[in-house]
Amino acid sequence: MEILSRQIARWQRQADSGELPDELYEIIAENAAPSHRRILSNLARVSRVVDDDGSIRTYEDFKNDWEYMNTTIGKPETCYLCGQHPILEHCVLIDPESKKEITVGNICVNRFIGISSEDQETLKLTVKSHKADKKKADFAIAFPNALYALRRYEGMMNDKKPLRTLNKTMVRRLTTVGYPGPKTITQWKEFIYTAEKDFQIWVEQKEIEDQEKQKRHHEAKRRDMAFQQEIVKRRNEWRIQAKGWMTDCDILTLNAWERRMVHRVSNRIMNGGLSSLKDGHKSFYDQMRVLFFMQRPNFQCDDPLFQEVTAWLKLDLNEWTRSFCRSIQIRIIQDGSENLSEKQIQVIESTRKRLSSE
Ligand SMILES: [Zn+2]
Repeated sequence: MEILSRQIARWQRQADSGELPDELYEIIAENAAPSHRRILSNLARVSRVVDDDGSIRTYEDFKNDWEYMNTTIGKPETCYLCGQHPILEHCVLIDPESKKEITVGNICVNRFIGISSEDQETLKLTVKSHKADKKKADFAIAFPNALYALRRYEGMMNDKKPLRTLNKTMVRRLTTVGYPGPKTITQWKEFIYTAEKDFQIWVEQKEIEDQEKQKRHHEAKRRDMAFQQEIVKRRNEWRIQAKGWMTDCDILTLNAWERRMVHRVSNRIMNGGLSSLKDGHKSFYDQMRVLFFMQRPNFQCDDPLFQEVTAWLKLDLNEWTRSFCRSIQIRIIQDGSENLSEKQIQVIESTRKRLSSE
């Protein structure tokens, strides 16, 4: 400090003319750790190191002259204090009194200028928002139509799992921070490269699918209607068949059991047509048909057994014998007298005996 005081006057003059000797800066930095000395002397070169009263200010004092202005991001620069190159975040500091400005990296600004924690917070936020602005701008330049593309290709993207996720992530990122993360950008580049071509193919396929779907729909509707019409048509036919059956039966003389059977068969025909008759209903129907046939004016049967049984029916027979004779008439007309069973022939013979003896 002896040396300093003796040389103050000279230094003051040199300071005014901007020409202080290097040794002064070295002396100011000499108490600092070796690795920090160059940084301190660099700061001293742009600081107001000679006080108004001619005394030399310490680093701890003059570093407070510097105020943090802002952070810019742009082409790489060099940190004024440590010489680090490149620095991407440029912290601009100003000495409001001398109007001097220096650009410093974000590490040096904290370590050697010691800006307040409040400033640091602002700095961090500023840096962050600058970074985000840059990424947002970069993305907007690279993909100016990203949002439009997301809307245009939404349907296609939603059809495939990985693309659906990409669409969702992109929309979320673009509407919140304004640019996608690095992984998403890679996926987006890959997707957008062939997107329009893929989209044209997808649209064509969709149209074909839609047409086929519509065709299938129309076809099903047409079949359904045809089926309904068929049902209606058949029901009408069955109703006419049942009505015809009832009309035919009206001219027959029937016992109580036969009349009940006529109604049962009529219901059957109404619900399924003549072709649905089977078993007891079917044989009853066939027998009645034979009776209708016999009612015709020009009906004639040359079979001698038939003529014999017909003659018996004109006699006063008991109910059972009358029914038996009728069944024989039917059997002969249906199958011929040679096809009667042995049992039937026995009954016919005993009836003949009984009637001839009466
Ligand atoms: Zn630095």
